[in-house]
Amino acid sequence: MNKIAIITGASRGIGAATALTLAKNGYKVCVNYLKNQDAADRICASINSSGGIAIAYQADVSDELAVESLFTFVNQNLGEVTHLVNNVGILFEKTELVNMSAERFTKVLNTNVLSAFLCSKAFVKQNSNYGAIVNVSSAASRSGAPFEYVDYASSKGAMDSFTKGLSLELASRNIRVNSVRPGFILTDIHADGGEPDRVSRLSSQIPLKRGGTAQEVAEAIVWLLSDQASYVTGSFIDIAGGK
Ligand code: NAD
Repeated sequence: MNKIAIITGASRGIGAATALTLAKNGYKVCVNYLKNQDAADRICASINSSGGIAIAYQADVSDELAVESLFTFVNQNLGEVTHLVNNVGILFEKTELVNMSAERFTKVLNTNVLSAFLCSKAFVKQNSNYGAIVNVSSAASRSGAPFEYVDYASSKGAMDSFTKGLSLELASRNIRVNSVRPGFILTDIHADGGEPDRVSRLSSQIPLKRGGTAQEVAEAIVWLLSDQASYVTGSFIDIAGGK
């Protein structure tokens, strides 16, 4: 069976590690990106030069028309999409509620969860009853991230409800839907927050006393997508060093 995966926000971080690992496992992959075309092209070149098949496609996946174009492009160039990783996410700087703007809250919800809704809808419309979706949530959906990022935690809480509902809705179509909930993972998402001591502050709070790696999250995503997880749907895997 041809396995064709779209990984959203895959030019760096967890998405990039997932795209590379899926390609190693024989998937044809589409590396979706928003801004960094060079990085997305480098990932595809590395996959294609090792005998895999990868294409890159720029799309803001919080935009419905852009998502439709993404799926049309992949359908035309690789075939029916059988696997989807809803990976994009943004995290702004630490801010308590009273200083958080409605604009920021809306932007985070749209990027982190509306995107998963739009991509899953487009996936289901073109899929003929085989495959799997993994939604990248966060440990913040459990903690609520008070005084820091309640916007982000809310988006991930919505993502968890979405995962559960979609897993039940798609079960009869043989499409599994699961989620990973990373804790503190050492990626550039933290550089964007402008908080210089974030790595040491967060690492000290983790039972395993370190941040995780993008690859450690990618391995769980790839397992959930694989036929080895054929009886797993509606599940959440915490990848958070015990936190
Ligand atoms: P990252 O910032 O390195 O990667 C996210 C990617 O998504 C970026 O390349 C960004 O350009 C892209 N993106 C953002 N908005 C987009 C849009 N509208 N359309 C297309 N692409 C868009 O971050 P990461 O750490 O690799 O995070 C990946 C996922 O893991 C996110 O959902 C994040 O919330 C989640 N997560 C990360 C951590 C962590 O500590 N790194 C912890 C828990 C959850």
